[in-house]
Order: sequence, then C-alpha cells, then structure tokens
Amino acid sequence: MVNPALRGILSTVGSTPLVELERFSVELDLQVHAKVEKFNPGGSIKDRTAVAMLLDKLHTGELDPARSVVVESSSGNLAIGLAQLCRYFGLRFICVVDAKTTGHNVKILRAYGAEVEVVTTPDPETGELLPARLARVRELVATLPHAFWPNQYANPRNPQAHERTMREIVTALDDPVDYLFVPAGTTGTLQGCGRYVRRHGLRTEIIAVDAVGSALFDPAPPPVSRLIPGHGASVRPRIHDASAPHRVVHVTDLDCVAGCRALVEREAVLAGGSSGAAVTALHRLAPSLPRGSTCVLVLPDGGDRYLDTIYSDEWVVEHLGRVPDLWADVAPVLSGAN
Ligand code: PMP
Repeated sequence: MVNPALRGILSTVGSTPLVELERFSVELDLQVHAKVEKFNPGGSIKDRTAVAMLLDKLHTGELDPARSVVVESSSGNLAIGLAQLCRYFGLRFICVVDAKTTGHNVKILRAYGAEVEVVTTPDPETGELLPARLARVRELVATLPHAFWPNQYANPRNPQAHERTMREIVTALDDPVDYLFVPAGTTGTLQGCGRYVRRHGLRTEIIAVDAVGSALFDPAPPPVSRLIPGHGASVRPRIHDASAPHRVVHVTDLDCVAGCRALVEREAVLAGGSSGAAVTALHRLAPSLPRGSTCVLVLPDGGDRYLDTIYSDEWVVEHLGRVPDLWADVAPVLSGAN
C-alpha cells in the first residue's frame, strides 16, 4: 500500500491565496476578495476534487498502483488534477475526452503520462458527445479489471472537498463573508462551501453563477449553445441540490469574456471563463448589495488555458459576434448606462 499522505507536489493543493480586488472594491463600494484557485499545482480548483476522490481509496488499499486503473471522462481541469495525482502515485489513468477538448489540454494530460482516448462519434440517440464519452467510460470500467471511475458528478467526496475551500476563505478574513459568488458546474464547490456555511451558522449568502442555457437551476433552459467550459451543465448531476444556493445568476458566454477582460484590465488577474462569469455576476448584483458588504469571488482557474478563445479577439468575434464593451457589458452601473 502506498503512503497516501499529501506529500511532494500534492502537499501544495489547497491553501490558495485570498486577494483583495482593490479597484472593484472602490468602484462598487464593496469589500471584494478573490479566492485564486489557479495557484493549485495543476492550475485549478479541481485539484482539490481529484485528491478528495482518490486519496481515501489509496488509504484503504482499494486503489493499488500495482494493478488499479483510474478511468474518467473529463476534458479539462479535473482531468489534469487526476493526471497529476495518478502520476504522483504511479497509477494508470485513462482519460476519455472528445474532439472539443483543446489540443493544449490533451498535451498536458499526455505530459503527465495519462492515456487519452478521444471519442469522435456522437451518441446515436441524442447526437451528443457527452453520452458517448460516458458510454465509453462504462465500457472500460466493465471490461478492465480493477478499474475505478471517480465520477465527479455523483461522488460525495467532490462537495466534501470544498468545505475546506470555504474554511480557508473564512479564516483568511477578519470580517464575516456576506456574499460568496461560486461558479457552478458539478456543483461540488457550491455545495461544499454551502455546507460549511450552514454547519457553522454563518450568515453568508451563497450565489451560484450559472450559464444561460444550463439545466442546473433552470427547469426549462433556453436552447443556446455554450462554448465556454467550466460552469453550467446540460444535465443535472446526481449530487445536485437545488436548495444549495440562496440565489442564482445566469450569464452568457459574452458576459464571461467581458468579466475576464475587466478582471485583467482592472486587477491584472488573468483568469478563466467561469471566473469572468463570477465577475460579471458581482457587477450585476452590486447595486442591490448594502454598501461595504464583504464579497468573495471563487476564481476556479487561470487564463492561460483560454488564450486562443476568451483572450483572442478573432475567436470572440467569430463565435460571439463582437468584442464586449467592458464597462457597458460588465458594469452599466459604472458607465452610467443604468
Ligand atoms: N469553473 C471551472 C473552470 C471548472 O473547471 C469547474 C469544474 N467543472 C467549475 C467552474 C465548476 O466547479 P464545480 O464542478 O465544483 O461546480
């Protein structure tokens, strides 16, 4: 049995910095802070989830580097978190992705030693790639001896991991958190933070940041295509709990781009699309929040993985029609349009 303690590079998962967003604080008359998750060694908040889902299995011996195979369908941050962890412990990892996964992410996965399987044929019934990916995972799990599927959409360890995320936020601040803005995909972060808040009787209002067109909190989502990954989901995950957030803000892909660009322009923080979504959600709600409220934004990953999309004017114009006008799109309240 391997030593399952968090050592080496894995000892740096979590304990990410909480930074004040000073310009936003002044402009919005709020105390704004950001939990900057790109400082995790794999570059995102999903390192926490990867560790939480696999570590106890290593501890009990259920996962054994001599024979176990980890199989997961993920095209982004969780895949990278798992690839890093599996490399560290010498576990074989098969990652099932589809043609939409960026070449950059596939290269990162392979660099960590993951075996990447690309599914190119959509599910015959739905015409979608996700069910085809999941079908391939099920097939691998059924046929490979000692295969383990962490399944972040159903695994209770996913939300559990983020009770610590919220504890870190709370202990880093002198003031109580009034509003927490959390991008929601599997809803693991949202639920874990919410559970910590309830357990400790805190007054924090949890605001889920979701995508327009996502089925997470909208029973009849509009049929819009979503190009920016991370937040939003086409089906409700098994761990879903509709009562987890106090409020939900829905944002478009263009809102994400506008939020990302405002964040880098004002605060020099280069972040991913769901972080931009949180920035825009904050600006939308800001006029209705009491002055001086303490707001925390969870920024799940960095911007380096989005240079060819969110930070490319050509891509944005081609796919979203126009480059956002920062202050008109993110903060009409600041530009006087409201
Ligand atoms: N943003 C990014 C960039 C992500 O990779 C994820 C995970 N899919 C999320 C937000 C959503 O986090 P969660 O799965 O904990 O809801």
